[in-house]
Amino acid sequence: MKANCWYGKRDVRVEDVPDPTILNPRDAIVRITSSAICGSDLHLYNGFIPTMQAGDIMGHEFMGEVVEVGPRVGDLKVGDRVVIPFPIACGNCFFCREKLFSLCENSNPNAWMAEKLWGHSPCGIFGYSHMLGGYAGGQAEYVRVPYADVNHIKIPHGIDDEKVLFLSDILPTGYMAAEACNIRKGETVAVWGCGPVGQFAILSAFLLGAGRVIAIDRFPYRLRMAHELCGAEVLNYEEVDVYEALRAMTGGRGPDACIDAVGMEGHLPGMLGAYDRVKQALMMETDRPPVLRQALMCVRSGGTVSVAGVYGGLLDKIPFGAVVNKALTIKSGQTHVQRYMQPLLERIISGEIDPSFVVTHRMSLDETPQGYETFLHNQDECMKVVLRPGAPNGNGNLARNITAPY
Ligand SMILES: [Zn+2]
Ligand SMILES: [Zn+2]
Repeated sequence: MKANCWYGKRDVRVEDVPDPTILNPRDAIVRITSSAICGSDLHLYNGFIPTMQAGDIMGHEFMGEVVEVGPRVGDLKVGDRVVIPFPIACGNCFFCREKLFSLCENSNPNAWMAEKLWGHSPCGIFGYSHMLGGYAGGQAEYVRVPYADVNHIKIPHGIDDEKVLFLSDILPTGYMAAEACNIRKGETVAVWGCGPVGQFAILSAFLLGAGRVIAIDRFPYRLRMAHELCGAEVLNYEEVDVYEALRAMTGGRGPDACIDAVGMEGHLPGMLGAYDRVKQALMMETDRPPVLRQALMCVRSGGTVSVAGVYGGLLDKIPFGAVVNKALTIKSGQTHVQRYMQPLLERIISGEIDPSFVVTHRMSLDETPQGYETFLHNQDECMKVVLRPGAPNGNGNLARNITAPY
């Protein structure tokens, strides 16, 4: 089969690789109909995630049709249409029983690597380094899904792939980030980062009762989407002082909750931004955290900072004094996707939300490397690239969606 393989910094290639096969009784093989490139794939592409190996198959947001099943996959059958959650969960361990699926303690065979970095390991993740299991990902024609009885949601026929594909990661991720804010009716939430997770966090914050959402980014097209389609007020951090602006917009108190939907490759103009880039380049810090710093400073006393962006290791100059002295709550975590897929699918089927509005680019699998470049450099107002294995080349960059998400 064909698959998109990682070879190093800014080097991915679509190659012929062996087809996946059933290895365990609870495995299924899925023929992929749609797959996406995620912002967190860019951390791999930019070389910031350790324990990647040349030839690793990337991709953790995908869906398709079941073509082969092991003897113990429950009611999953050949021909079923499924979306696969990015965290691999066993369904039986302490954490899975607590519905903390991304903390599954059985699905990462390389847990010892993660333990060195973090003390304890999260679950295994498709296409996301050997430290997180070394599983082949879904930017490919086929994928092996372990514990497939737990790791799928069936999709009725007749619903577009693009409406349900993001149940695999970014829709539940945006939703969980907003849910973590414990929003009370009418509260104000600030969201840093207006990529797809940021857009879904805005949408979810409103669904959960926020009165106002203030979105922060520097790309006008992303701010436009946040404002026009998701209903947020917007701040361009290259034009205003975010701290001062948020203070002024909230009567001097600050937002009730702040969501970091940016993560480890945050961008900051000026001296502190240069400081982070130098320290990261010298391996003196692994992550650039300007957004987290700013969120901790901006949030009101007693408020919540919810971190949906990915951080990997050591962060510098985090104002932890703000956490103590303002009595803040910090919430984070890889998304427990399995917990959110069913209720969010129901909202999609009922027409309450339509997540497909973030799709700006559609490409064949062969065009994946071009998809990474387009996404990385925000070319052509790129928001989300959907890959369609089996589609002919050269039909990408279709007209932008203008449908409202709700
Ligand atoms: Zn993702
Ligand atoms: Zn488990």
